[in-house]
Amino acid sequence: MKWTQAHIFTLKEAPADAEIPSHRLMIRAGMIKKLAPGMYTYGNLALRAIRKFEAIIREELDKRGCVEILMPMVHPKELWEETNRWTEMGAGLLKFQNRNQQWYCLGATHEEAVTDYIRHDVKSYRDLPRTLYQIQTKYRDEVRPRFGLMRGREFSMKDAYSFDIDQAGALKTYQVMYDAYRAIFDRLGLNYRIVQADAGNIGGSQTHEFQLLADAGEDSLLVGDSSDFAANIEVCPAIDAELHVSSEKELKPIEKFATPGLKSIGTLSKSTGIPPKELVKTLFFSGNDDVESKDKELKPFAVLLRGSDTINPVKVKNLLGMANPPQLLTDEEVKKVSGAWPGSCGPVGLTIPIYLDNGVSGLKNYIVGANQDAFHLKNVNHGRDYQPTKVGDLRMAQAGDKCPSGKGNLQAFRGIEVGHVFYLGTKYSSKMNASFLNQEGKAQPIEMGCYGIGVTRTVQAAIEQCHDQDGIIWPLAIAPFQVHICVLDPKDEKVMNASQALYAGLQAQGIDVLMDDRDERPGVKFKDADLLGMPLRIVFGKKGLDNNEVELVVRKDKQVKKVAPDAILRSVLEALQNLKPSPR
Ligand code: ATP
Ligand code: MG
Repeated sequence: MKWTQAHIFTLKEAPADAEIPSHRLMIRAGMIKKLAPGMYTYGNLALRAIRKFEAIIREELDKRGCVEILMPMVHPKELWEETNRWTEMGAGLLKFQNRNQQWYCLGATHEEAVTDYIRHDVKSYRDLPRTLYQIQTKYRDEVRPRFGLMRGREFSMKDAYSFDIDQAGALKTYQVMYDAYRAIFDRLGLNYRIVQADAGNIGGSQTHEFQLLADAGEDSLLVGDSSDFAANIEVCPAIDAELHVSSEKELKPIEKFATPGLKSIGTLSKSTGIPPKELVKTLFFSGNDDVESKDKELKPFAVLLRGSDTINPVKVKNLLGMANPPQLLTDEEVKKVSGAWPGSCGPVGLTIPIYLDNGVSGLKNYIVGANQDAFHLKNVNHGRDYQPTKVGDLRMAQAGDKCPSGKGNLQAFRGIEVGHVFYLGTKYSSKMNASFLNQEGKAQPIEMGCYGIGVTRTVQAAIEQCHDQDGIIWPLAIAPFQVHICVLDPKDEKVMNASQALYAGLQAQGIDVLMDDRDERPGVKFKDADLLGMPLRIVFGKKGLDNNEVELVVRKDKQVKKVAPDAILRSVLEALQNLKPSPR
């Protein structure tokens, strides 16, 4: 494509709300434009990268026997009610009525739609296994859309769904998809990790996330320093580097003492001289602990953990079998439940369920709030002074903790979730009555899995991982154009002819080329070429040609090679070969 015909408008500055490098670069390169919060028009450069990524996905899935379909993006309420997700998905599902006052939602994910599709077709075990996929626009009414395509409301996802006759088959398919995802992300040549993850409200028991490593990533990952253990912090088991077990033998009698103004663990620790890891804090939440329940009333409960630890709401959700992570109570609600304002609350005398983090179970004779403003209790002990409903792992693991693999410690990384594979079992098929007749002629629910890739998120995440101070450095596999020709003197016939010859020569080889044929200063062209970040840049100028030279510049390291004009086509093809990621 020639720049003078392309619709490319680069900017010197990005708007203030573009907070992370990839967002700023995409805006500055004119690749995306905001229509409304979380909704973007993809310019031609972005669309080219998206299409290339889609092609890689299609190739790897088709090769493994997956079948592409396309489902509607508007779904009737009744379908989502079959699984109770009309309620469970909460405000993330954008709901609206049509002219006949019938309710619909925009597809945020397609488990219901695809299960409805399959239940009408599949009759017998002979019709299985199957894996269906689509690449489609999703809509999720994210509370805070941000970072451009990273967290959009409208975004493109590849979602696949597998159907098997039994668990063994489903787990085999899971592995096929896992391998397909590895092949897909390997082809991009990006630095990623596969981590254990939470199933969110998709459900299911076995699940892995594919995370591109980047400082701006929204996910916290913990990775073993001496093993291949890797988990999203949401589900990473917490094992202290050194477990503190109280040295006290006796359970001492409870004492109440005045603590005016001591509302935080910090101030309480300073005043008592007891380190935060030996103090106990009480947090109050509400949530529905029964996933199946249609009862929308939220029930309050308390969680106790050491003063030095951080609560992990996803672990609380999982321990209690809730559909969504619990919500912290407001100060007023805490006062109503405990009798005191936050900062003076504790477990003794509470009538609501109390959940205890493992870290507290080793403590004895500890201090908690007295449920009376400005008072605390000392020498409190679980079992004697209050009964926990359940004890479990409810805190965040952190870097330096023992690795759950048993070898070494944990290290922290930031990641961008670009893909997610789930084994679902019969969660959807049993609720939606999607069954098949087995060899004995008995009806059985279909075993399912689902597999997502954030197509638009991945394209931006690639930029987040591959850029420098001057602009984007596209991975070859999804570069909008592999080659960028800068024509420095477009009015000079010799220069234009030589540029045109390479342009045509590369196109004949099926290579995407952008030719900057604008009547602009070289500085402007070089700046734009750096910003747009195509892997190879070829510079044709009058001076160079007079010396029988063309410049070939590799964007990644800005290495410059001078090549004779008649050897340039071959040199470009060679350089492109060298840029391909080496297989794992
Ligand atoms: P997140 O935790 O980031 O909200 P999720 O776990 O809810 O994502 P999934 O339901 O697993 O997302 O969706 C599959 C993939 O779709 C994700 O791995 C991610 O790459 C992409 N994705 C999800 N939400 C968004 C979004 N708001 N904008 C862009 N891509 C998204
Ligand atoms: Mg996910």
